[in-house]
Amino acid sequence: MFDVRNILDVWKNVMAEIEQSIPREQFSTWFTGAELVSVDDGIVTIGVPNVFKMSQLQAKYSSVLKTAFEHNNIDVKKLEYTVVSKEKPKTRSVDEVARPQAVAKVAKVAYNSPLMANGALQTGLNPRYTLDNFVIGGNNELAVSVARNIIDNPGISYNPFFLYGGPGLGKTHLVQAIGNALLQRDSSKKVLYTPISSFYSDFIKSLQNKKGDEFRQKFRKLDMLIVDDFQMIINKDASQQEFFDIFNDLYQLNKHIIVTSDRLPSQIKTVDERLASRLTWAGAYDLQLPSFEDRCAILKSKAEYKGVEIEDEAIEYIADNIKTNIRALEGELEHILAVADFKNMTPLEVINEGYVNTSNVQRNKTVSAKQVIEKVAKFYQLTPKEMCSKSRVSHIKNARQVAMYILSKDLAMSTPKIALEVGVKDHTTVMHGIRKIEGDLKLNFTLRDQIAAIKEKLYA
Ligand code: ADP
Ligand code: MG
Repeated sequence: MFDVRNILDVWKNVMAEIEQSIPREQFSTWFTGAELVSVDDGIVTIGVPNVFKMSQLQAKYSSVLKTAFEHNNIDVKKLEYTVVSKEKPKTRSVDEVARPQAVAKVAKVAYNSPLMANGALQTGLNPRYTLDNFVIGGNNELAVSVARNIIDNPGISYNPFFLYGGPGLGKTHLVQAIGNALLQRDSSKKVLYTPISSFYSDFIKSLQNKKGDEFRQKFRKLDMLIVDDFQMIINKDASQQEFFDIFNDLYQLNKHIIVTSDRLPSQIKTVDERLASRLTWAGAYDLQLPSFEDRCAILKSKAEYKGVEIEDEAIEYIADNIKTNIRALEGELEHILAVADFKNMTPLEVINEGYVNTSNVQRNKTVSAKQVIEKVAKFYQLTPKEMCSKSRVSHIKNARQVAMYILSKDLAMSTPKIALEVGVKDHTTVMHGIRKIEGDLKLNFTLRDQIAAIKEKLYA
């Protein structure tokens, strides 16, 4: 297990080094989606999402890559590139990376984690993630307001802050932004960001070096501990116990603990029940799928940030085609901008010429009103006819309002059109229904989960 993590860590280190050494925009344009496929007898194979990126990496970045690998004790005889299909998730699972030959070759690489670097505590935070560049929308406003509250009163309310949501919806960005904001306010605060997997490898390392006590002491000194991707927690073993102990120590000292996960603790099989329940003592907050408007706003903000011009129509095209993942949304924007730059075209011309990265674009891209109505009705165990009736029975009315809400937010349908679809008299009823759901969503977690589940089925 430890060796497998090493190969992941090598890649992390290589990426971190290159990120520091070339302009930020270049890094995000060319290295997004790249991954380490194998290291075999000096032959390092890097997977890239498309041929275009491959040719650019090969031509421009081979030498920085080589150097960075060498800094990680890997002597590169040859760099090879291969296009990897993005059907599978970008982050490769531990099993996929665990090719025996790859592991064997890197087993001796020194482990260099943010926690242990030079024996001093590093924050592990990436300054790129701030609240200023986190676009607020209906999908995240509640979580953002909690985040602001924590920055104002760390250790007091919303402790622990448990943030969950699907991949690429902004968990890492938001929790790192909290850490960065806290440090900006008061640089004497001790903040540490760590993915749970690094927590584990650091813990194992500290045991191997007989420095378990020191490890624990380091954590006790923190003002804020941010643990990312908690769903990767491994079985109930010594390291989970260690995490639990540290959690309790910090909690008792009124230090803030922030944990992200792709699902609720109760849905993670490997987690101890007591730990699971403590994590959500102060509630569980989620990041929802962004609506069409949210997606457009994010794309506009990213383009503005990069200082590039992009047609509204191009923004809408991207927002319309990528619905469930902000990372993929950004990736597509970057791809289109890179091609535009390379081919000397405008982004809309790139789209019209068909140079889009189809692996980002989700199938079933246009969902019809009929599909929305069917899925919502089915979810609430109604027939579409029952749901779109005049019935005022509350659960039927609620289902109808959810359908109105999705038709408005995701399909951008007008209220008179929605009225026709769901069989209500006039558009003011629709407006009222949408507002009702919007209001309920702020407080009603069950409703949030229901709508997220419906959308997942809709766009699957
Ligand atoms: P997660 O940790 O949930 O998988 P990330 O935090 O890594 O997701 O977000 C994926 C990408 O989307 C990041 O580049 C992040 O900056 C961006 N992103 C997510 N949400 C927003 C937002 N509301 N505004 C701006 N960028 C966002
Ligand atoms: Mg993340």
